[in-house]
Amino acid sequence: MRYISTRGEAAPRDFEAVLLAGLAEDGGLFVPAAWPEFSAAEWRGLRGLPYAELAARIIHPFIGDSLSFETLRTMTQRAYAGFGHPAVAPLVQTDTNTFALELFHGPTLAFKDMAMQLLGLLFDHVLEKRRERVTIVGATSGDTGSAAIEACRDRTAIDIVILHPEGRTSDVQRRQMTTVPAENVRNIAVQGSFDDCQDLVKAMFADVPFRAEMRLSAVNSINWARVAAQIPYYAYAALALGAPDREVAFSVPTGNFGNVLAAWAARRMGLPIPRLIVGANRNDILARFLASNDMTAREVEPSLSPSMDIQVSSNFERLLFELLGRDARATAETMRRFRAEGRMPVPDAAWQQATALFQGFALDDQGTLAEIGRLHRQSGYLADPHTAIGSAAAKALAPAGLPVVVAATAHPAKFPDAVERATGIRPPLPPRLADLYEREERFTVLPNDLGSIEAAVRAHARRN
Ligand SMILES: *Cc1c(COP(=O)(O)O)cnc(C)c1O
Repeated sequence: MRYISTRGEAAPRDFEAVLLAGLAEDGGLFVPAAWPEFSAAEWRGLRGLPYAELAARIIHPFIGDSLSFETLRTMTQRAYAGFGHPAVAPLVQTDTNTFALELFHGPTLAFKDMAMQLLGLLFDHVLEKRRERVTIVGATSGDTGSAAIEACRDRTAIDIVILHPEGRTSDVQRRQMTTVPAENVRNIAVQGSFDDCQDLVKAMFADVPFRAEMRLSAVNSINWARVAAQIPYYAYAALALGAPDREVAFSVPTGNFGNVLAAWAARRMGLPIPRLIVGANRNDILARFLASNDMTAREVEPSLSPSMDIQVSSNFERLLFELLGRDARATAETMRRFRAEGRMPVPDAAWQQATALFQGFALDDQGTLAEIGRLHRQSGYLADPHTAIGSAAAKALAPAGLPVVVAATAHPAKFPDAVERATGIRPPLPPRLADLYEREERFTVLPNDLGSIEAAVRAHARRN
């Protein structure tokens, strides 16, 4: 399988190169040169498989010759073995035609584990084969850092350093990062904001000699392998509800557009998905775009669903490329103007094509709490704020008579304050995390200063 850049100026690559590179060197995102498709008979043949087996069957066409099917299947089995539910991503009915697809049974209780657990193994495998190592650096305001640490802990070819803003993450989020007793993990609490942390990471990547010396790498949400590893759970839910012989809609609480792009990819591979509902909080750029072709970036505002507090959805570029008929020149020009002018000029025909499939929905914090309460009263289901937005969006926009699946992206215990306010119930952490508050924390507090941070990364990285 070969990959091309959405901006057309980067040489085509294979899966391994795309996995290690993340972003293409022309600033674009890698996409498959041709989408794999399964026939209806092939989809029927995948019904009823265990999650790890299904995941390997769906992901393998994206990898091609880089990895044998058996090796990949060993990895998917390892990646999902530690999940807290034997179905890995169980489907729970919450209303006549509404289901929650629980993507939060991984080590950090949020959906990013679904892809990151596999990504850590893929990175390690490819690096060991090449006799290379990398130092992964990243900045986090909470969820992504812990998912990356859990994915990279104890891997032989990877060291990982995560920066978080001192005192500005929730206790659960910080403890999930700082209580991991692995030699290759280092946490730095920066005396500054999340933006400062992000700027420090960017500055380290821009410091070319340092970047080369440390072999810096990232596992951010534009990495193609993360999108690929999110496709199987859409297939898992659709097949369980009767696809390919019955249509299924999905409602996805959305930030960087990575999760819902994977749903789009499942449709592109041949599943009958006539509607994708995109949920947003008050940071509603995607809902505004779908309502009126207005993609204008505004200031990010904090909400009860912090993982969706995003204004520029980086994975949207992959959909844009498809909407523009895979015209890389037009995609590059559209992104250039978005960057320069703050407003994305999407041609009307492309926008209409998008709205034929996608519908947007935005909900403020008060509406989010009301939906957590409603769900709990009516079905006994406890949803976290992100999932609640997906649920409200499904209720408002689901096509009549079709099953609609809400992507349940975080465990309610990850956001106990909001859930307690809405329902009076403080959801407990699952047993495997029950002692989180007793575990020993390890992190270093450092000033917002590039020299100090680089010295700490250098001291941690086990280079060749
Ligand atoms: C990251 C995240 C999202 C947003 O997912 P995207 O792929 O960025 O759209 C939604 N909910 C939770 C809980 C998350 O952690």
